[in-house]
Amino acid sequence: MALWLLVAILVLVTHTQVLPRRPEATPLLPPQAKDDADAIIDAAFSSDIVYERIAYMTDTFGPRFSGSDALEKALDWTREEMEKDGLSVVEEHVMVPSWVRGREFARLLSPRVKELHMVGLGMSVGTPGKKSLVAKAIVVSSFQELDQRASDVQGKIVVYNVNFDQGYSNTVKYRTLGATRAENYGAVAALVHSMTPYGLQTPHTGATRTTGIPSAAISVEDSRMLARMQARGQEIVIEFYMEAHMLTDKPSRNLIVEIKGAEKPDEVVVFGGHMDSWDIADGAMDDAGGAFVSWEVVRLIHQLKLRPRRTLRAVLFVNEENGAKGAEQYYLNHKHESKLTSIAIESDEGTFTPLGISFQGSAAARSILEQIGKAFLAGIGSGNVSGQSIGTDISPMCDAGVPCGSLVTLDPRVGSLSNNPCKTFSNPPYPDVNFGTSGYFWYHHTQSDTVDKLSPRQLQHCAATLAVWTYSIANLDFLLPRS
Ligand SMILES: [Zn+2]
Repeated sequence: MALWLLVAILVLVTHTQVLPRRPEATPLLPPQAKDDADAIIDAAFSSDIVYERIAYMTDTFGPRFSGSDALEKALDWTREEMEKDGLSVVEEHVMVPSWVRGREFARLLSPRVKELHMVGLGMSVGTPGKKSLVAKAIVVSSFQELDQRASDVQGKIVVYNVNFDQGYSNTVKYRTLGATRAENYGAVAALVHSMTPYGLQTPHTGATRTTGIPSAAISVEDSRMLARMQARGQEIVIEFYMEAHMLTDKPSRNLIVEIKGAEKPDEVVVFGGHMDSWDIADGAMDDAGGAFVSWEVVRLIHQLKLRPRRTLRAVLFVNEENGAKGAEQYYLNHKHESKLTSIAIESDEGTFTPLGISFQGSAAARSILEQIGKAFLAGIGSGNVSGQSIGTDISPMCDAGVPCGSLVTLDPRVGSLSNNPCKTFSNPPYPDVNFGTSGYFWYHHTQSDTVDKLSPRQLQHCAATLAVWTYSIANLDFLLPRS
């Protein structure tokens, strides 16, 4: 019998003998755990502070791109606000890349003259000699088609018109690797259909692997138009210009706030989001929401004067978008704690209506999480444990064997899904919902990622949910069991 199970049974037996067990309390946690969870939920739903802070930060400092002064000012302000909450803040030095976009455009010259709705991909090179290039375009719908038409690619601009129906994880490779693959066949540039199920002529940026040719995303509408033109046999000619280039790395920092564990301060429950955004985006949704909900967890527990048995640690990472240097640095600094980290949870898939967490770890740990969710969060609809999705910032920890989770939320604007661009794909246990095509990806990495996409109520709900999960896990008699 596993030690944790033995301990769990002993605890259950002890509590059953000493105290009358409340029917709604999970046997894994002491009876007052339910009262604590309810107090956390009440406190979370009584304050709009997360929304107000995101609105202030995004309105005041704007995009928080790695290497920018705006990011550093936003970090300074966040630190000051955390201190006003009575929290002590630890800053972890991180060197981050500094990529500069400069001016850019893509102009259709044939069969008609039209400015294409484009945005350069992060980490791309610029067009050679700081001049525009003019080339014929070839439109493909997959890497397979690119391979089949390889002899026709030399000297052209490759356009990847890839339908997002396949979801983010299956299509993002065209953004990250499209330029590299096109360059291998002699292309001079690459354009990619924006990573979104739906567009209003809004191009979505994102990181690409740096290679010798420049690359950009174009709007859904422009991508599909180019595909129609090719299907008709019309010759497509595009003028393309990007000034993008790299500067030397710049200093930045992760921000960390904690509630020290009362009994086992060296054992930690880690959770967080990222403070940086793309240079074109206010990054309210991606990921001020996740970062500030994590901070709010610590503020709530501190305000309620609750002391978990283990340490609760919120990490506000930098440079998730174009390098993940904050995640790398955190892992290097805390490698020795890998075995003492009960779970790492990231919130970077939106802070809309929370449904629960996804989880990657042992079946035994999953079953414990399911019990916590059922006992403490079912009442507010966010106690589910699903899939295996994990975020970039915690992935070094997950790779080292730390059980990992991700806050799962749904933008209710996807509506019934029956006649909607964000249509349904099977994703148990939510058969009607595909998070990859939820409203999150309508705004992801665009200038439309602004605070009006968030709601005070949803942020309260996310904070309540993340706080109850993390506080409950920190109060277990054992670290979450590993495979
Ligand atoms: Zn993000």
